Amino acid sequence: MAEPGVKDHRSEQVRVRFGRAIRRDLASEVSRLGARKALVLSTPQQSDLAFEASEVLGPLAAGIYTKATMHTPLDVTEDALEHLQASGADCLIALGGGSTIGLGKALAYRTDLPQITVPTTYAGSEATPILGQTENGVKTTLSDPKVLPEVILYDPELVTRLPIGMTVTSGLNAMAHAAEALYAENRNAATDQLAIEGLETLVQGLPAVVATPEDLDVREATQRGAWACGTVLGQVGMALHHKLCHTLGGSFNLPHADTHAIILPHAIAYNARAAASELTPISRILKGDPPGAALYEFAKSLGAPLALRDLGVSEADLDRAASLATQKPYPNPQPVTRDDIRALLQAAWAGDAPAF
Ligand code: NAD
Repeated sequence: MAEPGVKDHRSEQVRVRFGRAIRRDLASEVSRLGARKALVLSTPQQSDLAFEASEVLGPLAAGIYTKATMHTPLDVTEDALEHLQASGADCLIALGGGSTIGLGKALAYRTDLPQITVPTTYAGSEATPILGQTENGVKTTLSDPKVLPEVILYDPELVTRLPIGMTVTSGLNAMAHAAEALYAENRNAATDQLAIEGLETLVQGLPAVVATPEDLDVREATQRGAWACGTVLGQVGMALHHKLCHTLGGSFNLPHADTHAIILPHAIAYNARAAASELTPISRILKGDPPGAALYEFAKSLGAPLALRDLGVSEADLDRAASLATQKPYPNPQPVTRDDIRALLQAAWAGDAPAF
């Protein structure tokens, strides 16, 4: 539980701010939450950011923990929890992509401490109450209001450090949330609007970022798109695309954003047979039809990876992947059959245009 004196952060709306060098406002954000000491989280690769934040925090810093790891493994969370308790922190700051934000969420889930996130990718985890955790190689997902961060600071200077390859795949990862939101069972007019806004912003922004990666205005625009896509991910249920990426990522230890980038056109093409009208915004925004083919051409034009085989998946793995991906039923516009998923995977493995 939060220490006495720390405000009931869940009674408030999420506070979202955009701006150059806004990460330098961390001390005032910690105070605004009524907290006294913040533990800063990062991956080992981004420890420089954690050190910088700790300096900015001055007397409000409770230390840093720089071992955040992809897919939030339980042993890392337990180690971080010990560190957190010893530090006396009453607030968490996650500086990084979905992996670091995932660790912050795992700690908040266990302690109910408030979280400030400073996202450095477009994955969108900062805007959802969803937490994925891995134990003994098995990833499970939960949704809990405790997990939703209280504050998001989008600093475009931080995403300029994201290499172009990952900028593209992470942007496509964000677009995947919005694309699946368009046919979600529990969608509504507001979520449709948010999804369309996210897609429009990223379809305009990603080619501009590829052309001028250092342009902070363009970077900030893509962060606004990622916020919309992440927010809609937190509001509606996902289907085939996210389930497939979850299975492939977990079973074959594939990089998260690359897997999303490769699967997206195939999953959308698969579902366009049953959700053609829901997916018309994608064709309109990309000026291409059908939507799966339009997404494939868009990804190709950005230089995104197109083939699962380039991530190290062997053709012999596809049968097992198709079986794993069709083991448990879930809501999806187009019925999910093993044969169809096997055909989808074959095209995604080879880097071909969508099979459907
Ligand atoms: P990531 O956080 O794993 O980052 C990948 C690598 O890039 C790391 O080494 C990181 O330090 C580095 N990096 C990140 N930003 C950088 C920057 N600006 N400059 C230089 N290097 C940078 O990647 P991700 O794709 O953001 O996150 C993937 C994880 O997030 C997965 O575990 C996924 O399941 C999770 N996720 C969760 C949700 C949710 O709602 N729960 C949503 C999306 C993703």
